[in-house]
Amino acid sequence: MSSPLRIWHPFTNSTLDPPPLHVARAEGVWLYTQDGRRILDAISSWWVNLHGHANPRIAAAIATQAKKLEHVILAGFTHDAAEELAARLSKWTAPNLTHMFFSDDGSTAVEVAMKLAVQHFSNQQRPQKKEIVALTHGYHGDTAGAMSASDDSPFTEPFRGMRFPVHRVNAAYCYRCPVGLKRESCHIECSQQLEMLLAERSEQIAAVIVEPLLQAAGGMIVHPVEFLQRIRNLCTDHGVLLIADEVLTGFGRTGKMFACDLAGITPDLACLSKGITGGFLAMGVTLCNEQVASAFHSENRTHTFYHGHSYTGNALACAAANANLQIFDDEPVFDRIATIARITAERLTQFRAMHKVGDTRQIGTIGAIELLAEDAGYLSAMRPKLYNFFLERGVLLRPLGNVVYVLPPYVISPEELHRAYDVIQEAIETLF
Ligand code: PLP
Repeated sequence: MSSPLRIWHPFTNSTLDPPPLHVARAEGVWLYTQDGRRILDAISSWWVNLHGHANPRIAAAIATQAKKLEHVILAGFTHDAAEELAARLSKWTAPNLTHMFFSDDGSTAVEVAMKLAVQHFSNQQRPQKKEIVALTHGYHGDTAGAMSASDDSPFTEPFRGMRFPVHRVNAAYCYRCPVGLKRESCHIECSQQLEMLLAERSEQIAAVIVEPLLQAAGGMIVHPVEFLQRIRNLCTDHGVLLIADEVLTGFGRTGKMFACDLAGITPDLACLSKGITGGFLAMGVTLCNEQVASAFHSENRTHTFYHGHSYTGNALACAAANANLQIFDDEPVFDRIATIARITAERLTQFRAMHKVGDTRQIGTIGAIELLAEDAGYLSAMRPKLYNFFLERGVLLRPLGNVVYVLPPYVISPEELHRAYDVIQEAIETLF
């Protein structure tokens, strides 16, 4: 008999990293391993889980849907679960985002947004307006287009040659201000680079893509709302589309349903994924406004958007997303979010006083601590030490190099949340 295939684990170095932990089951914020350990999932399993693992309401909705319709091609067909999701989402999204396009995950939601932006202009006989602007420290996914929009990092280095060129402009990373100012006295001068670029090349630029208010994988970098508002205004003034990649920030993570709501702005296109199904199934959604969509309403067949994944609009994923949104409707989800935000703020105040801490950042439910490090960055030697330290104490936290963060499911109790911050405190006090 042949031996089973060896699973190739993402972001895992088979020589340097410990063997994978075998999870037998999960409930709430807890993962239960086959060898009898209990691990607190303080990062929502790569930022997807909202209402707890094995949430019975979402599980039941998937089971019911599976007995009725598991999947049908979405080209030329539709189904109840997708139509219901379109109606439910519209209760939360900005009124001028009128269309939704399904894909598979966060990366493909980003690919779709960039392609829609480019084809929008090409359908209007403006094929030269095809360039993309993205931010330093940005991360938008691992497929080729999303990698192109993402900033250079150890993730993208081997693929330098297959990334298409984008314009890269400053992000508002206040702790390491790109223009050497202090937030208390600045006027968001970091946005001047974008302003100059758009003034020069708006005839060639199709879209600016940003992670609104929070650059996550780039180091949990929180931007002032004025930065996002400035970008929105600049895009409007120069006739350039704004893509908000809300793949992580969506569904309450920042304290509002979407980060753009916090800044009071509406993008032209928005990318959703991760929490959309409550963390149960993969799904990507790209929203766009009537202006973007109108270029595709055409009697010319070549103006069709020829992009579609096999599992686009999968009925099981739609059922999970509908159950997720139903939980937002009838459980005190935003009270839970407010409690997490309050405890996070209290704990970060304590961390700020520690001399090994360079910066602390918070947006809504997410708290981050940037540790002082000579090798700051994703490959910091601190990272494996911290990761193993946390796991040995039964807490799943995946530092981004020298940046440790907590991004919990909303059902975490105050005691469990304190436990996550306690182990971080212990690590800082004892490891370095
Ligand atoms: N965009 C953002 C802001 C993300 O944080 C991520 C993943 O972390 C992605 C896109 C890519 O999503 P996925 O991993 O589902 O492809």
